[in-house]
Amino acid sequence: MQKNCDLIKDLLPLYADEVCSEESRKAVAEHISGCSTCRSMLEKMNKQLVVNVNNDIGTLKRIKRRLWIERIVIGLIAAGVLITGGWLGGFYVFNTEQTMDYEKYNLAENVYAEEDAEGNVWLVKQGLAIESWLIYPTIRDKNGCHSGEEGFNMEEKTGIMITLKERKSNDFVMFNIDSDSRFCQERTMIIEAGSELTEFYYYDDTTDTEYLLWKKGE
Ligand SMILES: [Zn+2]
Repeated sequence: MQKNCDLIKDLLPLYADEVCSEESRKAVAEHISGCSTCRSMLEKMNKQLVVNVNNDIGTLKRIKRRLWIERIVIGLIAAGVLITGGWLGGFYVFNTEQTMDYEKYNLAENVYAEEDAEGNVWLVKQGLAIESWLIYPTIRDKNGCHSGEEGFNMEEKTGIMITLKERKSNDFVMFNIDSDSRFCQERTMIIEAGSELTEFYYYDDTTDTEYLLWKKGE
């Protein structure tokens, strides 16, 4: 009997896993029906098996949950990147500023300065120049340096230069300024009467060329 138990013990793991041959299965079944030692050993094995499977299921569930969380986090990050990127991209693509260059927009005819009776100097726009949304002013010193440039001397400022820019906007962009018509008017005061500025230029920054529009006393 004892010797038979040893044989059965060897077969028990296979029997528990249900992978032994039909012959072995019969032998084990027959043996454990009459041997409590081997039967209890089989019961233990079955319990362990169940515990292992449960553990595995627990682990699988945890892994699955973690994967889900990772997926959600990745999804949220991706969505955030897409939305931010799309919005910024949209802003730059649809809200680009373009200098109105002097030749193309025929600014020699469409942009000029007008001095009123009080001595104020106005920028007057007509034709295509009306399309501009932005007036970029820079101060010019007597050496021709622009404000913001190296060597610019504020003490020796003599004139003002303006550049007209067109803003290409799109309705999808939240911050479009198309509703702001301040810059679309035909006349804009550029130099107030009594100012120390005595010259007024149009500056085409695409060709780095200055065009004198007004000079005090001329
Ligand atoms: Zn036995």
